[in-house]
Amino acid sequence: MTELLLRDARIWGHEGAADLLIRDGRIAEIRPAGQDGAGDGAEDLGGRLVLPGLVDGHAHLDKTLWGGPWVPHDAAPGLMSKIRNGQERRPEFGVPNADFVTALLENMIVCGTTHVRSHVDVDPLVGLGSVEAVREAVERHDGRISAELVAFPQAGMLISPGTEALLEEALKAGVESIGGLDPAGVDQDAVRHLDAVFALAERYGAGVDIHLHDGGTLGAWQFELIIERTKVLGLGGKVTVSHAFALADADPATRDRLISGLSEARIALATVAPNRGLLPLRLLGEAGVPVTLGNDGVRDLWSPFGTGDMLERALFQAKGTGPRDEDIELALDAATYGGARALGLRDYGLSVGDHADLVVVDARNAAEAVCVRPRRSLVVKSGRIVARDGVLEAV
Ligand SMILES: [Zn+2]
Repeated sequence: MTELLLRDARIWGHEGAADLLIRDGRIAEIRPAGQDGAGDGAEDLGGRLVLPGLVDGHAHLDKTLWGGPWVPHDAAPGLMSKIRNGQERRPEFGVPNADFVTALLENMIVCGTTHVRSHVDVDPLVGLGSVEAVREAVERHDGRISAELVAFPQAGMLISPGTEALLEEALKAGVESIGGLDPAGVDQDAVRHLDAVFALAERYGAGVDIHLHDGGTLGAWQFELIIERTKVLGLGGKVTVSHAFALADADPATRDRLISGLSEARIALATVAPNRGLLPLRLLGEAGVPVTLGNDGVRDLWSPFGTGDMLERALFQAKGTGPRDEDIELALDAATYGGARALGLRDYGLSVGDHADLVVVDARNAAEAVCVRPRRSLVVKSGRIVARDGVLEAV
């Protein structure tokens, strides 16, 4: 039996100071602060704020150059040129590289992320090399962070012969979800693309997570196709649409129709707090559509931006959502509870019985934590302290 006592904690969503007892990886007790003397394995939080472990619901770990060279960005604008640039220049820098992924994961862990969903490129040039690199890096961290992968046809599927078979290989190798990419805009045949993706998901019991940048009526139509397939195949709770710009762009009537379709089909959304196309978090929340927030690519051939810090990403989201505390908390919800709902994480949160995945910050409330992004005093994964004051702990 392992125990950890966090004394004098301020727990997000709870009143007053509390002591939080963790036993065997779960929250065992929450009681008013000060009832216990100091004991073995006790940490005095001095009134600091406890948040549930941050969830990064949309990352591209395999692409990162973190810990490697600084590569000035020189891709031409536009999705297709970035796709080509990423594919062509990967070998020059040895991407995918398990060392780079390990280094980025380290920064994510010390910043309080306890679970990540990473899209991982699958194409005839890299094969399953990206899957292997990310898995190796996650293993090196020995349980400090949990990860799930999405086999992602970054270079298209129908337009890139051999990719569909490789995606199937990835699912056979235990990759949790199958990805898709602009079934119309990139792959030029939305029905065939989605039929293939959903057929593979059904065959292997996998989740689905589709990048949908296509906007306007073309994007809205693809939403309808995804909703229809999710319902017919009974895949509610296992399907995510990432970016979903068409929903952000839509006129109110179309937006409301799509939101109720997503809610009925139990489809989640993923966003990365983009400069355009911010999702209507409040409306989605009211309709019961889970939204997960993610860092997207971090320092890679697509852009030099990003650090992997989910509080930073929540701040970017909050700048679009609004300045009131409740708006800022909506952004933080997408980085925590919303992410857990979208990704189907069980027993996630700050109640007795939940997995003890936590992050402690020197802030008085959630809004301040997002705005200030203080150093993470402690990060706890499955009941173990995995990072302290920005430094990994030996586990
Ligand atoms: Zn992405």
